[in-house]
Amino acid sequence: MRAAVLRSVPGQLEIEDISIDLPQSGEVLVRVSASGLCHTDLHFMQGHLPVDVPAILGHEVAGIVEKVGDGVTYVKPGDHVIACLSVFCGQCQQCLTGHPSICAEPESTDRIQSQSPRLRSDNESVFQFMRVGGFAEQILVHQNAIARIRKDMPLDKAALIGCGVTTGLGAVFNTAKVSPGAVIAVLGCGAIGLNVIQGAQICGASRIIAIDTNSRKLETASRFGATDFINPADGDPVEQVLQLTKGIGVDFSFEAIGSSVTARQAFMMLAKGASAIIIGLMGSDDEVSLPGLHFLAERKIQGCDMGSNRFRIDMPRYVEFYMDGRLNLDDMISERITLDKINQGFTAMNQGDTVRSVIIFDD
Ligand SMILES: [Zn+2]
Ligand SMILES: [Zn+2]
Repeated sequence: MRAAVLRSVPGQLEIEDISIDLPQSGEVLVRVSASGLCHTDLHFMQGHLPVDVPAILGHEVAGIVEKVGDGVTYVKPGDHVIACLSVFCGQCQQCLTGHPSICAEPESTDRIQSQSPRLRSDNESVFQFMRVGGFAEQILVHQNAIARIRKDMPLDKAALIGCGVTTGLGAVFNTAKVSPGAVIAVLGCGAIGLNVIQGAQICGASRIIAIDTNSRKLETASRFGATDFINPADGDPVEQVLQLTKGIGVDFSFEAIGSSVTARQAFMMLAKGASAIIIGLMGSDDEVSLPGLHFLAERKIQGCDMGSNRFRIDMPRYVEFYMDGRLNLDDMISERITLDKINQGFTAMNQGDTVRSVIIFDD
């Protein structure tokens, strides 16, 4: 099968023929229909975080089940699925207490050393990024890495649910549990931030303050439900938020950039007792410093991994939101590209020109 392979870091992707194995016990082979380009992939390509090479990146995937291994009961060939990097073991304390997105033992779903690798290039094993490896015509994943969805859901939009939508909506619904009437702020209006905005609107937030240095992204945010707009180029965003809220601050802030500066700002704009949700992926050397006295008024800062998802429950619900017209996925796709154009897609992302580029594979 054809796949985009990362061979050096920092580096671009090369289109190559890669051997993919047949499904063994508990595994599912999926024909990929669509695969979204996510900022996380770019972080690893640029070397901000370490990754083994050669690797197939990509983790925002929808497709159709081709084959299943022994013991797979959740899906059958022909089922439509969305993959998720939050692969869960189903048996650890986190999984059993309702937090499968922070499963303690996702590696228990991997193949063991004595088994052949899932992906190979000649005789070399190829690293399957995030246990998905989605920039490829097929993925071979554990059955605990997929959610089954209804077949009338368009698969290009379904792919978006694989990471960006689940992260943004989940941060609002699962991590923050935003209540009706809440005032929220979103720092960073890329794909994740837009989904936080949509989620806050579905929850009935009374005010949704969008913050971004890119004025085009603020315009897009208005289409997704933001009610107030702040460009840090016009002055300190914390001051601007406090002004907008008569000095009170917001009930929830969502950092969707991955910077220690904006994480601090997210905390500094909180009302008493409020929570800052840190969604953005920071580099391994980043540290966030906060003024200790601010904790006196019970302000909280909370990490968020993939929207604290229970993806087999969440993803089919998000599909329903889309089919009911309550979730805007159509405006989230800036361009549909072929696999060959993947590097150009990342260049556009790096320049801040796109919301989401989605690779569409031929049938
Ligand atoms: Zn992602
Ligand atoms: Zn687990």
